[in-house]
Amino acid sequence: MDDDYRNTEYCEPLGDVRNRKNTVVAMVREDHPRARDMHEYISKNDSKYKNEFIEAYNGKCAYCGVSIAIVPKQFFEVDHFIYRKSPKFKTKADAGFIDNLVLACHRCNHEKGTLEISDSAYEYLHPDKPGIKDTFIRDDDFYIRISDAKKIDLNAKSFYEKLGLGAEVHRLDYLLMSMRGLRSQIEVTSTAYKYMTEAIDILQTKRNLVG
Ligand SMILES: [Zn+2]
Repeated sequence: MDDDYRNTEYCEPLGDVRNRKNTVVAMVREDHPRARDMHEYISKNDSKYKNEFIEAYNGKCAYCGVSIAIVPKQFFEVDHFIYRKSPKFKTKADAGFIDNLVLACHRCNHEKGTLEISDSAYEYLHPDKPGIKDTFIRDDDFYIRISDAKKIDLNAKSFYEKLGLGAEVHRLDYLLMSMRGLRSQIEVTSTAYKYMTEAIDILQTKRNLVG
């Protein structure tokens, strides 16, 4: 069982995301040797860079785990983990280094906004770091929760609240991803597959209303 709250039992575990992101940088540099602000290139919808970046994250939001099977690809954005206009950066390009860029669904990116993330929390809140899996958990009712170990951590708390990670929609997404995963193991011509598809479609319609 994967201990990553963003993955259902059917999701592929996240590989070496840093390495895969560096592949995207290499692609950009091959075409644009002087490129500095990676965001400028990777964030363009339907560009080969963005598609590769999406692949690096297994097509899932790095914060809530929703997949491109549930939320259309064009609603996925390249988020600056430390927000772009943070005083930490002198220029826009300074914020666009690859480690600071993360795949996020529109909802998570929008909710996160200009949240300040303290240096001390970087290791356990940055979604590429293994520490995030010990900060948040998926409970038995499919809610994303703060782990017991981080219950009294103020950085984890403000991050969780600002992004709205406890919201029902994330629960619904997890259910949908689980159902799709289960369906993938059923014979396509079976009655079970047909009913499963009907249930998924109903839930997906409800999900689309939530946003
Ligand atoms: Zn998200």
